[in-house]
Amino acid sequence: MGDMHVATAIGCIGFSWATSPACTELEMVTTDWLGKMLGLPEHFLHSHPGLGGGVIQTTASETVFLCVLAARTKLVSKMKSANPDIRDVDVISRLVGYSSDQSNSSVHRSGLLAEVRMRKLESDDQFCLRGETLRRAIEEDKAKGYIPFFVIVCATLGTTGSCAFDNIKELGPICQKEDIWLHIDAAYAGSAFVCPEYRHHLEGVEYAETFSTNPHKWMLCNFDLSVMWIRNRELLVDAFNVDPIYLKHQNQGRVPDYRHWQIPLGRRFRALKLWFVLRSYGVKGIQKYIRRHVSLAEELEALLVKDGRFEMAVPTVMGLGPNKLTEMLHDDIMAHGLIYIIPAYARAKGNDIYFLRVAMVSEDLTSEDINMTFSAITESADRVLKQMAS
Ligand code: PLP
Repeated sequence: MGDMHVATAIGCIGFSWATSPACTELEMVTTDWLGKMLGLPEHFLHSHPGLGGGVIQTTASETVFLCVLAARTKLVSKMKSANPDIRDVDVISRLVGYSSDQSNSSVHRSGLLAEVRMRKLESDDQFCLRGETLRRAIEEDKAKGYIPFFVIVCATLGTTGSCAFDNIKELGPICQKEDIWLHIDAAYAGSAFVCPEYRHHLEGVEYAETFSTNPHKWMLCNFDLSVMWIRNRELLVDAFNVDPIYLKHQNQGRVPDYRHWQIPLGRRFRALKLWFVLRSYGVKGIQKYIRRHVSLAEELEALLVKDGRFEMAVPTVMGLGPNKLTEMLHDDIMAHGLIYIIPAYARAKGNDIYFLRVAMVSEDLTSEDINMTFSAITESADRVLKQMAS
């Protein structure tokens, strides 16, 4: 409703504070509310006296891309202040960024778009990127003659394939020591941090330069609404500052002009839909929604385990729960069209295993839907096994 009836209806294009003070200020208020709800460090909030703050981007991919560009600019400036004759291209061509092999495709894509080498590091048997792996990769790259300037470590809290969590407590201090920009991508699982019982996954978040999550994934906001918090806004604002006369206003510098925090100039009044959701559900309502999804995911897991023919490729984490047979199962489920289910790959004991994942996201899910999902899966399994036997 906030999106359709208010944001779209008033058609505000709030690229600077002056074009719509409400658009800017409500975004500051709602991103602070959300940051507090998730238990993020105070330095990410606008209300903190530091340089941090939240901003609404369209997608998590755009946030990663922006972070890569800002980190790239930071490194180029640092190199140039030490050696003014060095060319940008000589620095950029030797930068390297890291993420786990489980990270979302947007990380690799950001590397391609920003022309920065992104290296995928092997995650452990829990699909988690560990500090020791990062430390070794850094040493290897230094030894190979790459200039030891590292753009970004994209740590994922809740990976796309299996909802795994990178070990930020281990990665953070390494990034700090090497002056590496640590971005935390919690696109899906970030919403769960509204429940204190999941906040242990956030340990080490204080090392992050940026953090992002998508309320459009698991917090009842319609697409698009992705929130990014940055500890030092100057790294973003100064990196891409273009300030023509027609965009200037009297309060410049005293309030955020969000056009500097994003790629486009124009921007929608997205804070309204976040405001509507937060005010309608409240913290308790959102906690209830998240907890219900987790328990529905566990319900489905219990049914599948009890059936005896299925193996849990990864334990059910939050709301997300070999090979040829599973591919056939997937094809059969899709051909029958009752439920939509997507596959993923995970590595176990050195082998890639193909598994099916079910994500709980719709607000109105009930146990009936879980039973229907279970029936759709087991009926497909019956058909596939029969076909194999014949
Ligand atoms: N990061 C993670 C961990 C994701 O799971 C996804 C999408 O599934 C993304 C990033 C990309 O999100 P967006 O569509 O907002 O770019």
